[in-house]
Amino acid sequence: MEGRHYDIAIIGAGASGLQLALALSRDRYFDSSKIVVVEKDLKTENDKTWCFWEEGIGKWDSIIHKSWRKASFHGPNQDFSLDLSPFKYKMVRSVDFYDYAKKKVQQAPNIDWIIDEVNGITEKRTTAEFDTKNGVYTADLCFDSRIPFELFDEAKNSNDHVYLAQHFKGKLVRFENDVFNPESFTMMDFRMPFKDSMSFMYILPMSENTAMLEFTFFSNLKVSDMEYDSCIEAYIQRFLKEGGSYEVLESESGLIPMTNFPFHRFSSNKIIKIGTAGSWVRPSTGYSFKSTEEYVRKLIANIKLGKPANHKIHNTKYWFYDTLMLDILERRNTEGALFFERMYNKNSPELIFKFLGGQTSFLQDLKVMSSFNPLPFMKSIVRRYLGIRF
Ligand SMILES: Cc1cc2nc3c(=O)[nH]c(=O)nc-3n(C[C@H](O)[C@H](O)[C@H](O)COP(=O)(O)OP(=O)(O)OC[C@H]3O[C@@H](n4cnc5c(N)ncnc54)[C@H](O)[C@@H]3O)c2cc1C
Repeated sequence: MEGRHYDIAIIGAGASGLQLALALSRDRYFDSSKIVVVEKDLKTENDKTWCFWEEGIGKWDSIIHKSWRKASFHGPNQDFSLDLSPFKYKMVRSVDFYDYAKKKVQQAPNIDWIIDEVNGITEKRTTAEFDTKNGVYTADLCFDSRIPFELFDEAKNSNDHVYLAQHFKGKLVRFENDVFNPESFTMMDFRMPFKDSMSFMYILPMSENTAMLEFTFFSNLKVSDMEYDSCIEAYIQRFLKEGGSYEVLESESGLIPMTNFPFHRFSSNKIIKIGTAGSWVRPSTGYSFKSTEEYVRKLIANIKLGKPANHKIHNTKYWFYDTLMLDILERRNTEGALFFERMYNKNSPELIFKFLGGQTSFLQDLKVMSSFNPLPFMKSIVRRYLGIRF
C-alpha cells in the first residue's frame, strides 16, 4: 500500500476540481505546495455540454465551441426573441475543457495526477486521510467533488428543504436540410410539455442543420429513457419536419439537483466539499460552470488569508430568493412555464442574467420579483420562513 502526504488534494477532475486545480497551478503563492488531483476516469469522453452567459472576454474563450448573442423563448402564451447583449451565451464541450485543463495542470511541476477511485475520506487530528483502490494518502486540506447522490433522496424527502430534479436527455442531431438559425438558440420552448410537469425543449444550434436538442424537466416526476426519446421525436415531427431525415451524432443525459439542501454542511475543517457536492449549483437554475470561477476565487483568497477555505463563500441573499422560487416551482410545478414566461417577457435578458448570476442590487432584485404574482411568494415566505403550512 502506497502512502503519501500532500499539502492539498483535489478529489475529482470535473468542472469544479479542474477549475480549482488550474487556478492553483497558475498562482505563484502555491508554487511550493505539493498538490494532487485524484480522478477515477480518464476524462476523454464528451459527457456534458456546458453553457453559461458572460460579458466580454472570458477565461474559457479559447475552448468555446459556439456562442450566441440572441435567443428565442416559446411560452404557453407568447413567443419572443431575446437580444442578449452585452452578454453572450457561450458553450463549452466538456471534452475540450478536460483536454485543456488536464494539459495545463499536468505541466505544473508541483501537481501529481493520479487515476484512481477514492473510497472514503476521514478527518484525522492534523490531516485528511483518503483511501483509494490502490493506496492511502493524507493531505492538509482536501477538496472533495464526489457528487453525493445518496443525499439527493434525503434532500427530496426533507420537509425543511425544497428539491426539484432538473433532468434531461439531449441529442446532437444532424438533419438532411437546413432547419435552424445558428445565430440564435432556444432558451426554453414550452409548446410541447410532458404531462403533469414543468418540461421544455432547449436547443443549441451549431449550424443550419445541426443542433443539440435537449428535453428538460424541472420536476420530480420520473420518466423513462423511451419517454425522453418520444418527447424529442414528437418535437421534431411537429416543429422541425422540414429538416427531413436526421442522424443522432451524440447524446447526453443528466440530473442536476435544484435544491436549497446544504450539501456544503458536510464539509469539515480539512475536507471541503466543492462543486455540486459543495452546493455550488445555483438552486433556481442548475447552472454552476461559470459561478465555479467565483467560488474558486473565494476559496483561494480564504486560504491566503489563513481563514477556513470555505469561509463565507455562499451568498445568502440569492439562497433566500432561490428557496422561494423553488418552493413555488415545487408546489405549482405545471405553472412553471408561466413563471418563466413572465420573467423573460418583463425583464431585459441583461437584468435576468445579472439576477441569475448573482450580480444585482436590491432594487434590481425588486424589479425582477415584481414580474411575478406576489401571492405565491408571500405564501412561500410564510411556509418556508415562518414554518406555517397550509
Ligand atoms: C449533463 C450535464 C450538463 C450540464 N450542463 C450545464 C450547463 O450547461 N451549464 C452549467 O452551468 N451547468 C451545467 N451542469 C451542472 C454542473 O455545471 C455540472 O454538473 C458540473 O459538472 C458540476 O461540477 P462538479 O465538479 O461538481 O462535478 P463533475 O464535473 O461531475 O466532477 C466530479 C468528478 O469527480 C469524479 N469522481 C467521482 N467519484 C470519484 C471517486 N470516488 N474517486 C475519484 N474521482 C471521482 C468524477 O469522475 C468527475 O470527474 C450540467 C450537468 C450535467 C450532468
